[in-house]
Amino acid sequence: MRRLIFAANWKMHHGPRAAAAFAEKFLALVAPAEGRDLWFFPPAVTLPAAARAFEGRADVRVGAQHVHWEAKGAYTGETSIPLAQEAGATTALVGHSERRHLFGETDEQTGRKVAALLAAGVTPVLCVGEKLEEREAGQTDAVVLRQLAAGLAGVDAPHLERVVIAYEPVWAIGTGRNATPEDAAAVHRVLRRELQVRGARGRVSILYGGSVNAANSVALLEQEELDGVLVGGASLDPEVWAGIVRR
Ligand code: PEP
Repeated sequence: MRRLIFAANWKMHHGPRAAAAFAEKFLALVAPAEGRDLWFFPPAVTLPAAARAFEGRADVRVGAQHVHWEAKGAYTGETSIPLAQEAGATTALVGHSERRHLFGETDEQTGRKVAALLAAGVTPVLCVGEKLEEREAGQTDAVVLRQLAAGLAGVDAPHLERVVIAYEPVWAIGTGRNATPEDAAAVHRVLRRELQVRGARGRVSILYGGSVNAANSVALLEQEELDGVLVGGASLDPEVWAGIVRR
């Protein structure tokens, strides 16, 4: 049976109080289920409160939206991996399109972050995805494969399964326009083939993200290629997110 990961990226929403209130409502609606993991990526200041609020639920993990690859130093405004771990993170997003395109995160930086996260025992969720003009120019596969190669540059074959990949077409994030289930699955197949070429032994989890909501999540997850979803907007309301998770 596929293990499905439902990952909630709260972006710059939900402070500590809101996270506690969210968890109380959400956990009352969603019981642990076989084969399903629930990951939450709150803002950095909310990590400790979210970790506390979800404590005791073995099916829930809390993660950082953004980390620096150095363990410490003069990097004002940054969060190191050990600091994120101390705050409760056991996973972290890397290369989210908003980090890449709004804040200039480079392919090379994603590689450093993935390697540092693995070394620290934290699960990286490496996000890849093409822009609209790249899709229209027929460059989708080339773009996601370039991003995958850079993100995994420091990862040896035996460790590939410890990385989660999220395919998130940039044109679909926060736009209300999702990839069709078939289009998403086709890109997942391209990524999976490359992971096999790189020596992945077991199944690497590949999530889809980009305007997933209650109306399209079931059809997307019917695709065997999808190991879950990474969701922004529709994960902010506990009742909406519970409905998507429970399917
Ligand atoms: C995201 O932030 O990763 C995302 C997919 O956002 P949304 O679901 O709002 O498109």
